[in-house]
Amino acid sequence: MGEPLGTWTRTDTCGGLRDTDIGRQVTLLGWVHRTRDLGSLVFFDLRDREGLTQVVVREGNAALPVAKRLRSEFVVGVRGTVQPRAADMANPRMATGAIEIDAAEIRVLSEARTPPFQIADEVAAADELRLKYRYLDLRRPRLQSNLGLRHRVAMAVRRYFDARGFWEIETPVLMRSTPEGARDYLVPSRVHPGEFYALPQSPQIFKQLLMIAGTDRYFQIVKCFRDEDLRADRQPEFTQVDVEMAFARPELIFDLIEPLMEAVLGVIGRSVDRPFRRMPYAEAIARFGSDKPDLRCGMEIADLSGFFADCGFAPFREAVAAGGVVRGFVVAGGARYSRRQLDELAAQARQGGAAGLVWVRRGEGGAVQSPALKGAGEPVLARALAECGGGESDLLLLAAGKPDSTSKVLGELRLAIAREARLLAADAFAFTWVVDFPLFEWDDGEGRYVSVHHPFTSPHVEDLDRLEESPGSVRAQAYDLVLNGSEIGGGSIRIHDAQLQSRVFRRLNISDEEARRRFGFFLEALEYGTPPHGGIALGLDRIVAILAGESSIREVIAFPKTAAAVDLMAGSPSPVDERQLTDLHLRVARSD
Ligand code: ASP
Repeated sequence: MGEPLGTWTRTDTCGGLRDTDIGRQVTLLGWVHRTRDLGSLVFFDLRDREGLTQVVVREGNAALPVAKRLRSEFVVGVRGTVQPRAADMANPRMATGAIEIDAAEIRVLSEARTPPFQIADEVAAADELRLKYRYLDLRRPRLQSNLGLRHRVAMAVRRYFDARGFWEIETPVLMRSTPEGARDYLVPSRVHPGEFYALPQSPQIFKQLLMIAGTDRYFQIVKCFRDEDLRADRQPEFTQVDVEMAFARPELIFDLIEPLMEAVLGVIGRSVDRPFRRMPYAEAIARFGSDKPDLRCGMEIADLSGFFADCGFAPFREAVAAGGVVRGFVVAGGARYSRRQLDELAAQARQGGAAGLVWVRRGEGGAVQSPALKGAGEPVLARALAECGGGESDLLLLAAGKPDSTSKVLGELRLAIAREARLLAADAFAFTWVVDFPLFEWDDGEGRYVSVHHPFTSPHVEDLDRLEESPGSVRAQAYDLVLNGSEIGGGSIRIHDAQLQSRVFRRLNISDEEARRRFGFFLEALEYGTPPHGGIALGLDRIVAILAGESSIREVIAFPKTAAAVDLMAGSPSPVDERQLTDLHLRVARSD
C-alpha cells in the first residue's frame, strides 16, 4: 500500500537540522514518531536513528489530507522548507527544537499496524513483549543510542590494536572443545556420524597456537558460547575482545589494556586515572569480601583481631582463639542510624551467615556506644574505631568468624549500604586489577582441584615446587580487570612448556592419556618452539553496558536471548524436521 520512494533522496537526517538551516529545501525520510491533529493544523515528529524533527502541515496545504492519515510508525518521506518555530514552540531540550519543516509534500512509503507497545514513550513494556518484537524495541532512542555506542566502542578497540601492530585474526566457530569451565554447545557432524564440533567457549587454544605460529600480536572481537546454568545477566552467546601477545609479562598486558580502557572511555568523553590499582586476590577477599571489589564507595574492611584477642567480649575473643578474625569497616556518617536501621543491618548480616553484627559509635558527649560495650570495654572499642579512621559521626560495623566468610558478609553489607546511600554513581569509573589468583580451587562436587581460570594459566615460578604437595597454595600469573564491581576481563600468562602443561593436567586429575586425547595436538605444538606468551579477554557487552549506564547487557545486544536462553522473536531453540535429524544421525530421546 505504500507509495514508491521514486527518486527521493534524503538530504538530512532527522537529528541534524538547526536554525542555521532555515530557508533550505530538504527531504527527510523516517518514521512517524507521534502526531498531533489540531483540526486545521497537523504536527508530527519524524524519527530516524539520529533524532526527531517536527513537521507542520497547515490548512490550505495540499499535503493536509495525507498528514491527517498518518499514524505512529508509518514510514514517510517529507519534502519541505526549514522554518523557525514560533517563539513559544521552540524546544531547547531537543537538538532540532529551534526549527520545523513546513511540508510541501508527504509520501507514505509504508503503513504500519498499531505496534504492541508505544515506541514514542519510554514507558517500560513487558520484557517478553520487548524481546518478541525486538525490531520495534530497537527503534526506541535509548536502544538506538546503545547500538551506536557499541559500534563506536568496537571501532575504538580496532583502531587501538591496529595502531599497536595487533592483527585481527578470525578463529573457527566449529571447533574442538576448549575448557573454560562451562558446558559446550555441540554441533553434530553430518558427514562424520556420531561426531561433534563444539562452539568456542573462547578462542583460547587458537590464540595460543597463533603465538606458536609466530603471529606475535593477535586480537579479535569474537563471539563465545557457553551453555551455563542460567545466572543473572548472562547470555549463552556473548562477545569478547580477545587478545594475545608473544613475550608477554603481566606488566606488559596492564600497559596495553589501561590505555585501551582510556580510549574506550574517551568514546563517552570520560577520562580515567592511571595506573589502575593492583590488588592481590587475597587482599581483595580480605578487604572487600569479593574478587571483584567495587572501589567507588570506600568502606574497606580492616582486620581488628589484635584488638579483641584478649577482650572481655566472649564472641570476639573466642573467634580469635579459634583461629578466626574480627573484622569491620566504617560507615561515614553512620552514627545517626536509627535502632531499626542497625537491627536491619544485623539481620542482613545473619542472613549472610554471620553469627552476629556488632556496631560501635560515639553518642552524646563522645561516649562510646555499642552492644558490646559491657563485655569489650570502652578503651578497646574506642581504639578499634580510631584505627579504622572512624570519627564522631561515623559507625563501625564488626563481625567475627572464619576470615573469608567474615569478609564476605561484611563485603555484602558494605555494598548494600553503598547502594542504599547511592554511593555507587553510574558515571564514576573505578578500575582495579586483581592479581595473583590461586591457580586451583578445590571442587567438592567433582572431588578434585579445578582451574580457577583455565588449565593453560601459568603458575608463579616461585610456587612451582608446591604444585604437587600443596596445590591450593600455588598462585597463578592471572589477572582480572574489575570495573565498578564487575569483572570486565580476565587473562593470564600461559604455560609455554609442554612438560609443565602435562604436570598441570595431572594435578587436575586429567590423565596423560586423556590429555593426549583432548589436547594432544596442542601439547605437541608446544614442543615446536613456543614463545612465552599471555593475553586477556574483555567482555564487550558488559563494558558497553557500564558505559551506557545500563544494568543489563541485554540492553546493548541487538538480539539477545532471555534468561532461559530463548530467542522469543524467531523462536529458537526449536524442533527440527525428522529428516534433518536423520541426516545428522540423531534421535531425540523423548521423556514420555
Ligand atoms: N580465554 C579466557 C576467557 O575466556 C581469557 C584469557 O585467558 O585470555 O576467560
